[in-house]
Amino acid sequence: LLAATSWDDTAAAMLAAIAPYLPAATSEHYDCLVVGAGFAGAVMAERLAAGSGRRVLVVDRRPHIAGNAYDVADAAGILIHQYGPHIFHTNSADVFEYLSRFTGWRPYEHRVLADVRGHQVPVPINRTTLNTLFDAGLETEADAAAFLAARAEPVETIRTSEDVVVSSVGQELYRLFFRGYTRKQWGLDPSELDKAVTARVPTRTCTDDRYFTDTYQAMPDKGYTAMFAAMLDHPNITLRLGTDFATIKDAVTYDLLVFTGPIDEYFGQRYGPLPYRSLRFEHRTLPVAQHQQVAVVNYPDEAVPYTRVTEYKHLTGQQSPVTSVTYEYPSPTGDPYYPIPRPENQALFKRYEALTLAEPDVLFVGRLATYRYYNMDQVVGQALASWRRWQARQDEATMA
Ligand code: FAD
Ligand code: UDP
Repeated sequence: LLAATSWDDTAAAMLAAIAPYLPAATSEHYDCLVVGAGFAGAVMAERLAAGSGRRVLVVDRRPHIAGNAYDVADAAGILIHQYGPHIFHTNSADVFEYLSRFTGWRPYEHRVLADVRGHQVPVPINRTTLNTLFDAGLETEADAAAFLAARAEPVETIRTSEDVVVSSVGQELYRLFFRGYTRKQWGLDPSELDKAVTARVPTRTCTDDRYFTDTYQAMPDKGYTAMFAAMLDHPNITLRLGTDFATIKDAVTYDLLVFTGPIDEYFGQRYGPLPYRSLRFEHRTLPVAQHQQVAVVNYPDEAVPYTRVTEYKHLTGQQSPVTSVTYEYPSPTGDPYYPIPRPENQALFKRYEALTLAEPDVLFVGRLATYRYYNMDQVVGQALASWRRWQARQDEATMA
């Protein structure tokens, strides 16, 4: 600065001195950067763009939108789910009405059969399941309740996924339906998993064979990817696929970050990696019009290496002389699909969550960023709530 010979030189020298502390002149500015184009990211982007009038950049490291809900026509023209079967169900009118802005619906009630002792029987276990497997002749709900009560083994405190099932149906049904499936799916015994995991699947004394009993059960009529395309189709939204947060974060500037990837990754895994369970999907097209009776058949037998087989035409109603199916093989490595609910993992998540307090301009949303075993509707609900809280803070700041 002292060597400057004119006001112009002085200004240039001052600018050079502070340049390292300024954003690069060429860097683009967005109001919000959203990392991830799955449910969490797409809802946040849509709300910030259309609801709050912000300019939003959405990035995803994958080459497509829709996150794990991504569906696509395969080589045979059948709409398949690349990351396994995604069935939409919710009790929330708010969530259903919100998504209905971007899609029509095909009514669909999901049914699952389990391949057990040479039969394919309804799951959740219901009266038909019991009558088929045990030739039990149970005619009423009271009969079925008494049958189960005689087998149930009471557990003083229900803590684990084994306790939940054994306390309601006893050891034999637990072993037939839950132990092998869970060991395969999670690489852990049910006794090592939080009760919430198997509690997702109830036991019934009636003959209702639907997998879910939610008020709203339907599939997006043109598929999930089309629904996401409609959500992200807004003049305030820019989308960059095949783009990792790590490669973009210093190339653009932004006021708010919405992060929907794994929370441990965001913090450089400084406390060690959070465990996630992965899957390998084997997609096949078969030269028959129909492969199985229902959309999903579960294989609880530990000797069978996959957990379930999905036939998509049941979900979509698509007509074709061929059919496409997906086999799911659980895996300890690969994309992080499932947070693993058990106390030590929750404790590790809490340490990461504590770090978010020091990041007031970052919102952590979704299944990976909040390490919760959430269904799609829960992620949508969480994202809507997160946006509403953020918007309320903006409104307060404007009023002040
Ligand atoms: P994701 O869909 O995982 O989206 C996160 C996105 O962020 C990904 O696309 C990822 O590529 C991207 N990303 C992560 N890190 C980065 C980074 N650093 N840079 C750039 N991009 C990044 N729910 C139901 O309601 N019904 C079902 O039937 C159902 N079935 C399921 C079946 C399977 C096999 C699985 C795995 C899940 C299922 N779910 C189901 C749950 C459902 O997939 C999730 O609730 C939902 O997709 C979560 O959305 P999300 O946006 O939180 O996460
Ligand atoms: N489960 C099982 N047998 C079954 C179905 C489910 O043991 O036939 C257990 C298993 O641990 C599974 C959990 O219940 O991971 C939750 O099942 P859900 O169908 O909700 O799993 P998701 O669709 O999330 O993979």
